[in-house]
Amino acid sequence: MCLEHGLKIYADLEPTILRTFDKLLSSKFFTENPLGRSMAKLVAKLLWFLPHGVVLDCETALKFVDVLDKIGSKIAVGSCICKVALNRRKDPLDVDVVILAGIKAWAERKPGYRYISSEELKRYLLEWNKIGLIHSVYACCRMGKLTFVICNCDPEICVPVRCYKTWRAALFKGPKVAVVDGSLCQGCGECVKVCAFEASSLQNGKAFVDEEKCMGCGVCLRFCKGNARKLVPREDYRWPRFMRKFMEEIEKVQKAS
Ligand code: SF4
Ligand code: SF4
Repeated sequence: MCLEHGLKIYADLEPTILRTFDKLLSSKFFTENPLGRSMAKLVAKLLWFLPHGVVLDCETALKFVDVLDKIGSKIAVGSCICKVALNRRKDPLDVDVVILAGIKAWAERKPGYRYISSEELKRYLLEWNKIGLIHSVYACCRMGKLTFVICNCDPEICVPVRCYKTWRAALFKGPKVAVVDGSLCQGCGECVKVCAFEASSLQNGKAFVDEEKCMGCGVCLRFCKGNARKLVPREDYRWPRFMRKFMEEIEKVQKAS
């Protein structure tokens, strides 16, 4: 009850928190000065109870929806809170998918959410994947029971994605990593342009993926002209604690199918 109440308080404060981080992200002191960057990283650590997310490739996101179906979570979609809070409204706007604990804190209290089925959500995820949005699932306090949203992010606008890029905060890597088949790579550089995490580069006319930087979003696969890229499981991957229970369910769903 107390945790649910805390999530509602966060839901009310969310636009202000996002605008505050947006201001910090536009400050040279906090993004470029070593002292400022260290201070920002420390603040991010102290704010461990704020939402943290894990990046999901589209296939894993679709399996996650099957788990939501299995455990009977309602699903509702509303406007992206980053786009609205920062007044950077850009289509598609309705990409904020509240689930589980998010239903009581957002869908039942905030205007503009509409309930959708798991099949509808899967169709949306495929559409959003085609246009290069990054899927990620978030929980407050890094607790599974406070999992509340599947975000589908424009990396130029999304505050958590930009916090991760600047301070390595707010986001965790997903379970997969991109690899390139050099024999198919045409060296066009599209993957370099579309990778929000600067994980792709061209070396001697062929694409190269930095595994450490790759978050496993899979966006580069959608834009690869040579069909040279695929996602493979990341070696020794450990899910963030809040996602482990869901992943066990995903594995059960996989085995049963
Ligand atoms: S290389 Fe970049 S775009 Fe491709 S999966 Fe990794 S992080 Fe995503
Ligand atoms: S988009 Fe594909 S073909 Fe083009 S450089 Fe990247 S891996 Fe190679």
